[in-house]
Amino acid sequence: MRTVRTVRTVRTVRTVLGVSTVLVQKCIGVLLISATLSAQAPTLHLPALDRSLPGRVEAIYQGLATGVDPVVAMETARMMAPLWRLAGNPAFEQSQQFIFDRLQAAGLAPRYETFANAGMGWEHRRGTVRLGGAEGEVLLSREAHRVALAINSFSTPAGGAAFRLVDAGTGLGAASYEGRDVTGAVVLATGGLSPVWQQAVRARGAAGVISTEVAAYTRPGETPDVLQWGSIPYDESLRSFGFKATPQAGRRLREALANGAVTVHVEVDSTFHRRPNRTLVAEIPGATRPGERVVLAAHVQEPGANDNASGCGTLLASALAIHDAIRRGVFAPPARTITFLWVDEIRGSEQWVKADPARVTQVLAMLSLDMTGEDTATTGGTFLIEKSPDPSALWDRPSDPHSEWGASKVDPALVRGSFLNDLHLAVALRRARDTGWAVRTNPYEGGSDHTVFTRAGVPALLNWHFTDRYYHTNLDTIDKTSPAEMQHVAIVVGTTAYYLASAGGGDVADLRRLLDAARDARLETEKANTAIPEIIEAWRKWYTEAVASLGRFQI
Ligand SMILES: [Zn+2]
Repeated sequence: MRTVRTVRTVRTVRTVLGVSTVLVQKCIGVLLISATLSAQAPTLHLPALDRSLPGRVEAIYQGLATGVDPVVAMETARMMAPLWRLAGNPAFEQSQQFIFDRLQAAGLAPRYETFANAGMGWEHRRGTVRLGGAEGEVLLSREAHRVALAINSFSTPAGGAAFRLVDAGTGLGAASYEGRDVTGAVVLATGGLSPVWQQAVRARGAAGVISTEVAAYTRPGETPDVLQWGSIPYDESLRSFGFKATPQAGRRLREALANGAVTVHVEVDSTFHRRPNRTLVAEIPGATRPGERVVLAAHVQEPGANDNASGCGTLLASALAIHDAIRRGVFAPPARTITFLWVDEIRGSEQWVKADPARVTQVLAMLSLDMTGEDTATTGGTFLIEKSPDPSALWDRPSDPHSEWGASKVDPALVRGSFLNDLHLAVALRRARDTGWAVRTNPYEGGSDHTVFTRAGVPALLNWHFTDRYYHTNLDTIDKTSPAEMQHVAIVVGTTAYYLASAGGGDVADLRRLLDAARDARLETEKANTAIPEIIEAWRKWYTEAVASLGRFQI
């Protein structure tokens, strides 16, 4: 995730506070009150919006509940999960092609759109660290750890090379390097991969770095073989390498250093593919208003089964189910176009938005699918709808807890009332009623493809799971996914998307009733939170705008 990838990581760390700077500046009084309240009795139940579900939504839900095939989602996730996918590399394109073939076989006429690639299309076949010489104990490898080697690492000479190992403490500042010659050495440090690389390789001539940094959410104390993957800057002149170490590997290296000088043998075999970035597009064309759209997107890059092989498989299952229901005559062709995108996160969405500025103004809603497959028991992550910006994104309230990822600074101009949050929540709660599925929401935080559409003025939300203890680690593997969870998400995103794509004037009264129920429940909740006039007013305004947004369905 380009800079956003870094933001995600940073945000995971700074969630200890769970409060953004803007909140502290804007409404510290509110924060103090809500902090007191949440310590007393957080009310986290969601309004029973499924009881106000329009009849036409119910019918679509029933059609997709039996139509979505979780096997398709799971097959896709299983195929993609072992692959280290980065825009322009063979694993990324192979993953898209797997989805393309299934879309094409179903008659969905998929296509590719290409644009300049910001990355280098990196891939590696080997990335091994041994203690001692070429025959020494293997501490880190692609075979055992999959993603220990940093993105943008260059190849060593064939067969590898031996390096002095130097422990630089945190490796983050000049003090770490005082009295230590790291020229030509491999630096071991507890600091983050990229900042340590800047200090050790770029500033002091080290050959490479090994970072043992690992975030608390991965529970390293009980998971000695976990590592969070990472990257180093692309630098052709330095041609260096980096590794993330597991707690186990870090311990072995430090034990060895405690007994004297240590040599590590490092072998890297990597390639940079300078190919364009590619977005996979499939559409169910609108029958009467094809220029208007509902957009759904899942990102292809990254090495995880849940993040985001699961989202790609879930989106495919949803697309195939809607297409099949139309083909069989169960659903009529929608008035508006439904667009499915498999993208390089953020960049692919930005490209789609930028490619046709008039087109995006006609997008009614956007649904992002990112980490939709978590087995909740093994990962700890439960299903979350990250809402399109509403007043809960501006005011921290006990009724609307942030995810462990944390609040971010939200531009109040992005808080615009729409039908999307309550409709989608109602559909998810409908699924929950049938299955006992755990459904929660969190205020807008940003960081995936929904951010791009939100900024472009489109009502957009994220379907995800958090906190997944294996997020961005080598252990985000297929055994951590759940076909049932992907099936739930595929059904609810499909229901919302097809309903909106086919909605007309006859649906306005139904949607109005749903929004009225949601507004009443919200005002009750805000009173229970401790009634703050400014916040209640913000919600009233939000719902007035939401009702006005129904004007888009008058066709
Ligand atoms: Zn992701």
